[in-house]
Amino acid sequence: QLPLPPHLDERKVIEAISAAKDADGYHPISQGRMLAGIAGLRPCTPAGIIELLVRGGVETRGAHAVVVGRSNIVGKPVAALLMQKGEGADATVTVCHSRTADLGAFTREADILVAAMGRPRAITADMVKPGAAVIDVGIHRIEDASAPKGTRLCGDVDFDPVAEIASAITPVPGGVGPMTVAMLMHNTVAAAEAALGDDR
Ligand code: NDP
Repeated sequence: QLPLPPHLDERKVIEAISAAKDADGYHPISQGRMLAGIAGLRPCTPAGIIELLVRGGVETRGAHAVVVGRSNIVGKPVAALLMQKGEGADATVTVCHSRTADLGAFTREADILVAAMGRPRAITADMVKPGAAVIDVGIHRIEDASAPKGTRLCGDVDFDPVAEIASAITPVPGGVGPMTVAMLMHNTVAAAEAALGDDR
């Protein structure tokens, strides 16, 4: 699981993994299959986001999805999955990052907003279109004097005010995180079945 300790070369480690056992979906072969729309092991957090949208009944076809973040493990692959053809996809996708000028101008246009910027509560209610479905990928521990331990977890979205205007929103904790784990188990089983020649 990433991130690795800083003295290890992430790319070398990923490429040393057998693509057939790449349960995290980070190997270049897995990424290439995903981009080409060929069946394969998808990266877990992005795949979990698509599963959340499908099972939550959020219409992605023709929706404008705005992804904030362009990392290899979240932003880029979730954008790639949302723009594929098919269920939980067929969206028109905009990708924003730290060099995006006027982030709010883009996020306010989102029917589906995926916040994966790694900045605590950076997406505020004035940046969200009323009725949008908001997926909060970020996870941070912040100081909170009112919490029993003096800290609590939060995401990249300012949850309470955004929840008032969003049609759907994932909590932190308890949203994208558990889905990531579920998709890791899904990939592990799929890879094992493929290794056994089981194509159910
Ligand atoms: P990275 O730090 O690798 O990427 C963050 C991205 O956000 C970068 O593309 C960066 O832009 C962009 N960004 C940073 N600041 C801003 C800003 N002010 N405005 C617009 N874009 C900005 O993070 P990850 O993708 O690995 O993770 C994102 C968050 O999701 C983290 O909080 C992480 O802990 C969490 N996470 C949660 C998972 C889960 O299972 N729930 C799984 C993986 C991650 P640039 O490229 O220009 O630097």
